[in-house]
Amino acid sequence: MSSDPNCIFCKIVAGTIPCFKLLEDEHTLAFMDINPANDGHCLVISKGHHANLYETPPAVLGHVMASVRRVATAVRDVLAPDGINLVQANGKGAEQSVFHFHIHVLPRRIGDDLKMNWGLRPGDMKAISALAERIRAKVA
Ligand code: AMP
Ligand code: ZN
Repeated sequence: MSSDPNCIFCKIVAGTIPCFKLLEDEHTLAFMDINPANDGHCLVISKGHHANLYETPPAVLGHVMASVRRVATAVRDVLAPDGINLVQANGKGAEQSVFHFHIHVLPRRIGDDLKMNWGLRPGDMKAISALAERIRAKVA
């Protein structure tokens, strides 16, 4: 499996930096975003290092999307948002900041007025950890 020693998500996969883990299987990992755009914002990534959509093999995309479905279902069950957006950025023009394939699972509330380029504001780690525990327990 490909890995990049300078990539923050590869370090999370390797366990050398921590995350609020939600799900792990052979091909994918899901964890809380530490700069959440909304409560419950989380990420599903391929374990292998692929910079973007174009560089990710179709079979890997399938594995990631299967995990996205599991995580999004748990987020829906725990937070009962009014909706969930899946967001996936490719390239600087799309505000991609981590060049390792990932899909954002973004709970939405009617009227939350979330801007898609939400900026990176560090979240409250206690609150993120507590939400991670609730969502993790629901992942089927
Ligand atoms: P993007 O801008 O689409 O590439 O999204 C990258 C996301 O990764 C951002 O929402 C960051 O908040 C998130 N992120 C970066 N480093 C970490 C980390 N160590 N743990 C959790 N999320 C992270
Ligand atoms: Zn990587």
